[in-house]
Amino acid sequence: MESFKNVILTVIGGVGYDALSTEEARVCEVQTSYGTVSVSVLCAGENSDIAFISRHQGKHHVPPHKINFLALIDAARQISTPVLSVNSVGLMRNVLLVENFEMNEKLKQKTVASPESFLDFPFFIPNDFIDLTKNRIDTFHNEETIHTDMTDPYCMDIRSLLSGVLKDKSVSYSEGTYLCTEGPRFETKAEIRMYAHFADVVGMTGVPEVSLAKEAGLCYASLCTITNPAAGLSQNMVTADEVKVGVEKNQKTVFEIIFALAAVLKNRKNNGGRKICQCQNATVHGKL
Ligand SMILES: [Zn+2]
Repeated sequence: MESFKNVILTVIGGVGYDALSTEEARVCEVQTSYGTVSVSVLCAGENSDIAFISRHQGKHHVPPHKINFLALIDAARQISTPVLSVNSVGLMRNVLLVENFEMNEKLKQKTVASPESFLDFPFFIPNDFIDLTKNRIDTFHNEETIHTDMTDPYCMDIRSLLSGVLKDKSVSYSEGTYLCTEGPRFETKAEIRMYAHFADVVGMTGVPEVSLAKEAGLCYASLCTITNPAAGLSQNMVTADEVKVGVEKNQKTVFEIIFALAAVLKNRKNNGGRKICQCQNATVHGKL
């Protein structure tokens, strides 16, 4: 599509990322079989744009269990670039930091992000997921049997580039498994005790976005910001305000990461570099 010919990276963002849809952005309406999706296109450099899709599209904030994931991913498929999703999560257990950057004395000795210290290490890159949603349409294929390979649900190529960007910026982060609940309620303490045996972070928006992206053959990765300890892991209630404050605190860094990732993709494209993943072949051997 002409409007998207310079787009290098598509970003799907949730709470707090409407700021990317500023007056400098060009707003385009993308028609899909599942509904119209509003996409903001921002200039990120010479012949280099970023397309931003607001996950909770609409005048009001569409609740997580009502998000039209089919339309969002179909719009991303039409834009046809790698996708970076930004998600807010609660941390359920201690997670190892991939690298312990010596940012200052306070952080020097720490190698683990814990539910108590999440504020110091708010970035998390999922490498796998568990789906505990209940009422979401999670496939494009309803007329024929097509199985999708989910061995590496998040694109290893984009994850690798994203990790490189974080390392360049000396931003510590952790990796692991994302567990998606249906919402919109937060989890109970007992649920978190159970989920923490199987996953590291919990959220409501990562699935089926990731699996639909894989069905669509898109290279898709997620950058999660940890906004709170999960239920029962602190003295406080889990509140929407807490999530909002957490998102806002990290917003500037996330924007920097997004623009840096777009620059990396652009450089690689200019230099004729190749990606190292099989995302576009995820359904090739899945047809009965
Ligand atoms: Zn890929």
